[in-house]
Amino acid sequence: MNGPDRSPAAGVGDSAPFSESWERLSAEIRACRLCPLGATRTHAVVYRGSPSPRLVFVGEAPGAAEDRAGLPFVGRSGSRLNAAIDVVGLSTREFGILNVLKCRPPGNRFDRAAARTCRPYLRRQLALLRPRALVPLGAVALRELAPEAPRILLAAGRPLGSPDGPIFPLIHPAAALRSRALRDRWERDVVALRDWVQVAL
Ligand code: SF4
Repeated sequence: MNGPDRSPAAGVGDSAPFSESWERLSAEIRACRLCPLGATRTHAVVYRGSPSPRLVFVGEAPGAAEDRAGLPFVGRSGSRLNAAIDVVGLSTREFGILNVLKCRPPGNRFDRAAARTCRPYLRRQLALLRPRALVPLGAVALRELAPEAPRILLAAGRPLGSPDGPIFPLIHPAAALRSRALRDRWERDVVALRDWVQVAL
């Protein structure tokens, strides 16, 4: 049986269209040069997924594969995230994926000053998407969405409150590639997310 479409272009053919406001914002991000990362990126990475998601996964910043493709989570981490989304049981219309930073930082070193400049784009994206809950992926996204939350290894795998409403942090999928223990943690937490989505969303 074929599963839901998780291709990088997933969401493009969804029945519900993106709003004009969303399209204007996306074009603004793609043309942005407000911080130095605008000069070194190949593509600004805006979003992939549904125009009206129940759940939005929030990563840190584009990596090399994402910078080339102009889409978030299309490399090895993306494969792991797509597999997790299958476990949670979300259809293409039910989720979206974006990053805190829209442009790749050279050497993949997260740039806090650039993130401050970029923050209004994330805020405007979330205001337009209005998901029921957010899933910060890793420490950077958790700090961005819930500065008061415990460290990621304490916070991951359970629901928390945030200024944006309910969040359910996970460790970053790239971290889950680093060791057997972190892979096991990732898999346990994804099952916990599935259980929470079933009862809370
Ligand atoms: S990282 Fe954000 S603020 Fe900086 S150039 Fe890219 S879109 Fe603009």
